[in-house]
Amino acid sequence: MSALGAKSSQTDEPLGESRLPIRAYGCGVRVRAALVGLLGLVLLAGGPAAAYNAPGPRWPGKTIRYYNALPARFDWSVSKATAAWNSSGAKLRFKEVKAPGAAQFTVRFGNTNGYGGYATIGRANGAYLHLSGQYRRADSAQMPVIGLLLAHEFGHVLGLNHVRDGGCRLMQPVVGTGCKQPPEAWLYNCRWLSGDDVRGAIKLYGGKARKPGKRFCPLEPAPPPLQDVVFTGGQSTETPLEITWAVPAGVRPGSSVAIEVYEPQKCSGDTKAPLVDRSSARLADRRWKDDTYAATEEGAFCYEVRVENQYGQTSSPRQYAVSRQAPPLAPPVVGALTEYPDDYTDYLVEVSLPEDSYLHAVVAASGACITTYDENQNSLAYEWDATQFGLEGIPVGPSCISFFAVDYQGRASIAVTREVVHQPRI
Ligand SMILES: [Zn+2]
Repeated sequence: MSALGAKSSQTDEPLGESRLPIRAYGCGVRVRAALVGLLGLVLLAGGPAAAYNAPGPRWPGKTIRYYNALPARFDWSVSKATAAWNSSGAKLRFKEVKAPGAAQFTVRFGNTNGYGGYATIGRANGAYLHLSGQYRRADSAQMPVIGLLLAHEFGHVLGLNHVRDGGCRLMQPVVGTGCKQPPEAWLYNCRWLSGDDVRGAIKLYGGKARKPGKRFCPLEPAPPPLQDVVFTGGQSTETPLEITWAVPAGVRPGSSVAIEVYEPQKCSGDTKAPLVDRSSARLADRRWKDDTYAATEEGAFCYEVRVENQYGQTSSPRQYAVSRQAPPLAPPVVGALTEYPDDYTDYLVEVSLPEDSYLHAVVAASGACITTYDENQNSLAYEWDATQFGLEGIPVGPSCISFFAVDYQGRASIAVTREVVHQPRI
């Protein structure tokens, strides 16, 4: 179970757990007065089911100053974690200071007793917030998980202890369990504080709960659309569609080009049009040649091409409608045309035809050659042998004979025409 829903290379496990064999729960430790924790337990047993556990003690004033000793790439997680509390409505503010000496506690890698994070609870001399060293090499996909874990530890520092029952609450021992899963892999659960967590902070610091923010946020900004997209070909089953593009500015590492083929109504705005096939390309290739099932199929299709980031979020698409046909039939190659002195046959003609086609010949007045195939006109040609055909019904005098190759689907080639002057029989 992905706790955060942050689809990443490694988390199909509860939040905080990872490939590393370390149990990574967020956790707090009391510096003094272990008995108070026990008291908290007792109180909790009689309290409402979803009651915060806020033993404190609270810090004086409104501002709690911290020094951030984590590497800079953790800044996003740290600032999201503090922003969650600072915007909750509780009258407290975690404020980053630039000198460790000016801070009331430091955020750093440190001993976590095998948990993902570890922190002191409430105001204390020597207060600290430790993140497990297992996250030293965390990649950007893990930052939302780490941010959530840090938010939990900041919750300890401000004076909250664990809640004992389930539900999606920041201060449960295993952070992220019981939380609603994002509907898309490119979203993560970004509402880190439940109403109960906020009530706990307000209990200690006063204030009024603010309206919670969005539940789900994108892991990355939406990718920019492809630039300079050009579609070429695709009108024939023999000339596959090619798409070329320029790489847009601001595209994130790990992004690629997604190409999807739909039934034609997709290009008319029908969002429910069935998907026929899909393919992908590297952005840097800047070119894609149709390798889908549709490439060799006759018919109409709608192509969509977009940038897709590493989490599967896509840019707005560029669409392209094609109506694809089989390539035109090659015309017959007409060779020698010879008068034939027979009662029925007027000419012999040598013809080479494309595969799987037959010869169709018609005659018209000289200078008025027929160039359009008409299946209702009778052909004057009959097969003599493999390469020779007889022609009958040619009038005496000048005329124009048109030859078509026709395949067994009834499609015809363009016409090959010959002007002849048929000699009268002697
Ligand atoms: Zn904890």
